[in-house]
Amino acid sequence: MTATASDAAAPTAHFRFFALDVLRTRRLGHSFLRVTFGGESLADFRSGGFDQSLSLFLPPAGQEHTRLPSTDEDTWFAAWRAMPDEERPVMRSYTVREQRRTPEGTDEVDIDFVLHGDAPPASRWAGRAVTGRRILAIGPAVAQNKSVRFQPPPATDAIWMYADETALPAAAAILEALPAGTPVRAWFEVPHEDDRLALTTPADADITWIVRAGTGAGGGRERVEQVLGALRTAALPAAEAPYAWLAGEAGTVRAVRRHFVQERGVDRRAVRFTGYWRLGASEEQLLAEAYAGQAPSEDPTSDL
Ligand SMILES: Cc1cc2nc3c(=O)[nH]c(=O)nc-3n(C[C@H](O)[C@H](O)[C@H](O)COP(=O)(O)OP(=O)(O)OC[C@H]3O[C@@H](n4cnc5c(N)ncnc54)[C@H](O)[C@@H]3O)c2cc1C
Repeated sequence: MTATASDAAAPTAHFRFFALDVLRTRRLGHSFLRVTFGGESLADFRSGGFDQSLSLFLPPAGQEHTRLPSTDEDTWFAAWRAMPDEERPVMRSYTVREQRRTPEGTDEVDIDFVLHGDAPPASRWAGRAVTGRRILAIGPAVAQNKSVRFQPPPATDAIWMYADETALPAAAAILEALPAGTPVRAWFEVPHEDDRLALTTPADADITWIVRAGTGAGGGRERVEQVLGALRTAALPAAEAPYAWLAGEAGTVRAVRRHFVQERGVDRRAVRFTGYWRLGASEEQLLAEAYAGQAPSEDPTSDL
């Protein structure tokens, strides 16, 4: 679930609170840490797969577990907002990389966190996660829910994908779930050579890895130019009805969307694009803009 103001204020029966207990962690690459969660409430967790997202509530600095005054559908949001800043759990959007039932009959959920420093709250929490820590999440209680954004129309005959590292968990889950032989052309942008994770798919996927150049000191423009450079030199296989799924840093995603619509002639209604984060803005700032109705509205399917 992406933390838009309306969702946060009124989770429907499609979503509910879950308690997630850290079972174990595993480093996947230079920037990725997989946290595997368990907990009794996961018996009712129903991921819709693909790019299923959820909202995590992480404890503020100095606290081991997440506590909320209320997890009641009607009252939690006001109670959470009314908490003193230093006690209020931090809300962040993440992707269900995988949900599974173990041979022992317990339920597990993997979330792959990008570690991007010790100051940002979610990155810091993940980097310090240890077995037994409990967080809370608003996650899916039914598999058909609007936090699965990857919804290609039935006539789709090819998939174009762009993801940066924050959307790579979603892209990896999508690739695993596609029907065998689906033509896919994908560009995945990562900060480090060692973030080129091994991906498995039954699709006929042609993947280009874009390892970000240098330190990124040039900011957003530098990122965008590198990605557009890779896209512009690529030949796309012929397709009558392609569907494009784009997710990552908001400014880059908008530029990639323009590329597909304006330079490649993809029908804008067949482009699903989502800003997963924005350079220079924390998720609180993005939420504040959403509450104030200032979030960019270039496309109603974009959440940020
Ligand atoms: C639907 C959805 C699904 C998502 N799924 C995942 C996922 O599976 N894994 C994942 O890692 N992220 C995912 N994200 C992105 C994640 O929510 C953001 O990166 C979030 O900002 C991280 O919170 P934070 O507390 O670490 O940083 P914040 O406090 O939100 O931001 C602090 C600063 O760091 C910058 N920043 C934020 N993220 C990054 C980054 N990755 N690299 C460099 N700078 C950054 C911000 O611009 C800001 O300047 C998802 C986002 C959405 C909307």
